[in-house]
Amino acid sequence: MANFATHVAVAGMVATGMASGIAVTGMLSWSDSLILGVFLVAGTLLPDIDVDGGRPQRWLFSLLALAAAIVASSLTTRMQTTPLFTVPGQTVSCEAIAAGFLVWLLIRYPAAYLFQRLTRHRGLCHSLVVGGLWGLGWVYLGLQCLASEPLTIWLQGMTLFLGFLVHLVLDEAYSVDINNARIKRSFGSALKIWEPDFPVGSLLATAALMGLVWLLPYPHELIQWLHRGVQLLG
Ligand SMILES: [Zn+2]
Repeated sequence: MANFATHVAVAGMVATGMASGIAVTGMLSWSDSLILGVFLVAGTLLPDIDVDGGRPQRWLFSLLALAAAIVASSLTTRMQTTPLFTVPGQTVSCEAIAAGFLVWLLIRYPAAYLFQRLTRHRGLCHSLVVGGLWGLGWVYLGLQCLASEPLTIWLQGMTLFLGFLVHLVLDEAYSVDINNARIKRSFGSALKIWEPDFPVGSLLATAALMGLVWLLPYPHELIQWLHRGVQLLG
């Protein structure tokens, strides 16, 4: 399999090519195109979050812990609390700080530990179904909670999945030893739709993916944008 540096380097190249292509043709602004490039690199890190103690896992759980802490603190602030100090536009209370810290601690350590125990490398996390869940999950979060612009969030979700796919294809390519025309034992373990050794998890992930497809609105904006792109190329 390809290592971390190879994944980041390849994704970086694909992201640069993609972002400049989109920006040069005027399909998106330079800043929006660069953000898409970042999403592609982020997507490429996601399949290996099941490598215990690996960088993608540490970064993901640090990010999740931070996001959860911010949500917990702002929810606590809305309750009857004791003001501690004020930052512009916001009163920070003891309770909000305590709730934020507690939630951060819970996600960063016990939840991360549980995730390590429940997953094994190149299991379900390394499959296309989970890649689809990341992409559509991000679109759902953006539309429901972040009030994102539909085209922007659909493009981000799609790029996240594309980065995920680049990772799986690269891992699979690395399992073919070209010089010796020999296929390594890892062949077929990287690019897979789901995890045959974990049927219950695979079934649940597929059900969740179908649920998201059912819940999400039809991506008119994305289809129009892609159509415009095809016309530009044609
Ligand atoms: Zn991998």
